[in-house]
Amino acid sequence: MSPESDLFFIKGGRVIDPACKFDATADILLARGKIQAIGRLDPPAGCPVLDADGLVVAPGLVDMHVHLREPGFEFKETIASGTRTAAAGGVTSVAAMANTQPVMDDPSVVGYVLEKARAAGYANVFPIGALTRGLQGKTLTEMGLLQMAGCVAFSDDGHAVMDSGVMRKALDYSRAFDALLIQHAEDMGLTAQGCMNEGVVASRLGLPGIPTESEEIIVDRDIRLVGLTGGRYHVAHISSRGAVQAVARARQQGLPVSCEATPHHLALTDVAVGDYDTDAKMSPPLRGEADRLALREGLAQGIIGVIASDHAPHDLDSKRVPFCQAANGVVGLETLLPITLELVRDGVLTLMGALATLTCNPSRLLGINRGTLAVEAPADLVLFDNTEAWSVDASRLHGMARNTCFHGRRVVGRVKYTILAGRIVHRDGD
Ligand SMILES: [Zn+2]
Repeated sequence: MSPESDLFFIKGGRVIDPACKFDATADILLARGKIQAIGRLDPPAGCPVLDADGLVVAPGLVDMHVHLREPGFEFKETIASGTRTAAAGGVTSVAAMANTQPVMDDPSVVGYVLEKARAAGYANVFPIGALTRGLQGKTLTEMGLLQMAGCVAFSDDGHAVMDSGVMRKALDYSRAFDALLIQHAEDMGLTAQGCMNEGVVASRLGLPGIPTESEEIIVDRDIRLVGLTGGRYHVAHISSRGAVQAVARARQQGLPVSCEATPHHLALTDVAVGDYDTDAKMSPPLRGEADRLALREGLAQGIIGVIASDHAPHDLDSKRVPFCQAANGVVGLETLLPITLELVRDGVLTLMGALATLTCNPSRLLGINRGTLAVEAPADLVLFDNTEAWSVDASRLHGMARNTCFHGRRVVGRVKYTILAGRIVHRDGD
């Protein structure tokens, strides 16, 4: 973007903005980091022009479930490396989970993360505050103070809030701040020592399993508590048919319940564990085919409104150990878009519907002014080639970690440019 005019022109792309239900060939003029105009336009004299012919131009992606690992685990990922990999994936806004060290349960930690993110300049970071002090599940955090410091939601992700009384209080208390509570739904008593989905694959491998009831029991319980309190409730990384059905029933009753699915739960099953591949180990675990199909159906029906990566980088030492001892989680920021586009190819979602799950839907849940190309909105955009095929190569990811479960997968759809506040922060090949 030219410093003197502060203008930038994107010419002739297929502009898709699900928030405005817009899908047409158009030009976009950016000015002072915002969307200035959209339609059939002429570039102002001297304005830099980016030719988007043949590309899809969409709002920058909003990933509402990301682990940036800083502070505390900078050997896995830093805010700079995590947001750099976000930019490479077309993601301009990430919601950062609270399980850092120290935990994001205090405004000082929130301020630190925001400052680091600003300095790096690759993506907007929206911190998610801890729901309970130290993620211990006992004492609620000061949601109001954390919200004032910049938190957009609250979650103990990594841990479920097991105590029903604490969850009830959290849902009740959150209403004063219209805060979204994000639950990692997992009954720890049922999970016990389990390290993959309970089923025939686990039996064959001789690994202890985790039943889907572990998730379903917590979602069922929480929905009852939402009925009691009216708090806004969101299920993170939903993985089971029963939990999707529970969310569907809650929504029919008009309860403020929502959920997200991850690309890996939509694309893979527990068969991907293969020969004890620790890059296929995550929480919740990859489930069976019936569950995977139920997630796809839930997306098609709009019960699941958000696709989020649950980007969880790990160092090699955390993964190169026996399966049950390996850390949970996979990286996902750079595969979020192409794996989501598989759902379009398979007829589960339209292209606009798929982009909605990655842009306006998460933005609305978090209450952030992102995920749209409306005039005056921040000029955060992704330009991608919807037809280009490529192979995921773990060694070529832009973050510090290599733990992808999609290594070697042939995908279609490649990010060409990512623009943040009117400035190019990623260009294909960089
Ligand atoms: Zn997570």
